[in-house]
Amino acid sequence: MIARRKTRKVRVGAVSIGRDSPISVQGMTKTHTENIKATIRQIKELEEEGCEIVRVAVPTKAAARALKKIKAQISIPLVADIHYSPTLALMAIEAGVDKIRINPGNIRQPKAQEKIVLAAKERNIPIRIGVNSGSVLPRRGLKVIRAAEEQNLAVLMVESALKAGRFFESLDFADIVVSLKAPDPIVTIRAYRLAAMKCDYPFHLGVSAAGPVKESLPKSAVGIGALLAEGIGDTVRVSITGPSQEEVRIAYDILAALGIRRESPEIISCPVCGRCEVDLPKIIGEVKESLAGEKRPLKIAVMGCVVNGPGEAVEADLGIACTKGYGVIFKKGEILRKVRQENLLEEFTKEIDKFNG
Ligand code: SF4
Repeated sequence: MIARRKTRKVRVGAVSIGRDSPISVQGMTKTHTENIKATIRQIKELEEEGCEIVRVAVPTKAAARALKKIKAQISIPLVADIHYSPTLALMAIEAGVDKIRINPGNIRQPKAQEKIVLAAKERNIPIRIGVNSGSVLPRRGLKVIRAAEEQNLAVLMVESALKAGRFFESLDFADIVVSLKAPDPIVTIRAYRLAAMKCDYPFHLGVSAAGPVKESLPKSAVGIGALLAEGIGDTVRVSITGPSQEEVRIAYDILAALGIRRESPEIISCPVCGRCEVDLPKIIGEVKESLAGEKRPLKIAVMGCVVNGPGEAVEADLGIACTKGYGVIFKKGEILRKVRQENLLEEFTKEIDKFNG
C-alpha cells in the first residue's frame, strides 16, 4: 500500500481529485472541438475505455461555442484546455465546463488571470495550473536560452506554478490542481517532487509530448510511475501520438502495475529459457482468453517448466507450469495437482473460478 501525499481535495463535476479520492484517469480528445459530433463520439469511446475526466482543446471561438452542446451530451466531467486567450477561457467557463486548464506561461497578465479566476470562482469550478517546460524557458527573441537555465528547468516550472497559485489564492480561490509536465521524464519527476515539498495542491501527472506508443510507454511508465510509487499524484493523463483510447489503457496499466487500481487479473509469466518444452505464448493467450470478463485482481502465473515454474512464481495466487504432455496447477507456490496437457486449461479455469484467497 503506497502512502499518498496529503493534498487538498478538488471537485471536477462528479469526480474528486486529491486527498483520499481514487487516482483518476483522464483523456483528451484529438478531434477539432467545433466538430461536435466527432468530439462527442470520441468522448464516448474514451468513456467506454474507463476515462473519468475528458479534456478538449479550445483554440477558437467556434470551439468554445461548441462546449455547451458537448457538455450536454456526455456523462463525464468536461475540461477546457486554454492557451493564450483569456477570452476563450471566459467563454468556456460561461459554457458550463467542469474545469479549465490554463498555462500561466502563456496567459501571464495578472488582470487576465484575475478575470478567469473570478469567473471560475463564481461558477464554482476548479482551475488546473498546467505548466509545460517549454513555456518557462527564458527566451532571447525567438531563441531559447539554454545552458544554466536548462539545468534549473524543474525549478522554473515549479516557480511558475506556485506563483500563479499564490495569486489565485490572493483572490480567495483555492480549487487549484497543478501539473508540471516536460517531455523528459527526469525533469518531470524533479518538478513534481519539488512542488510536493512546497504546496498541498493535488497533482495532475503526465509526461508531455512523450511520442508514439513505443516511445511514450517507457517514458510515461517511468515518469508517472516513479511519482505514483512515491505517493505523489492524484490524477493521470498519458500522452501518446496515437489513439486517445490507448492513452487511457496505458494509464490504467501503469496504475495496475503499481497495485493502485487493478480491475482485472495480472498475468505473471516467465521469459522462457532452454528448459521450456511448450509454446508458452500460445498457452498464455489461451489463459488470457479464458479470463475475459474476470474482474478480481488475481495474480495468475503461466510458467514454462515444472521444475522452476511454481517456485519462481510463488507470489501468484494460482498458476500453471507446463512441460511436454502435462502441467501442474499450483496455488501460492504449492503444487495442487498434475494434469494432462489436453485438460490443463479446463482444470485451471475451474481452480480460478473457485479461488477465494
Ligand atoms: Fe526457464 Fe522454467 Fe524459469 Fe521459465 S520457469 S525461465 S522455463 S527455468
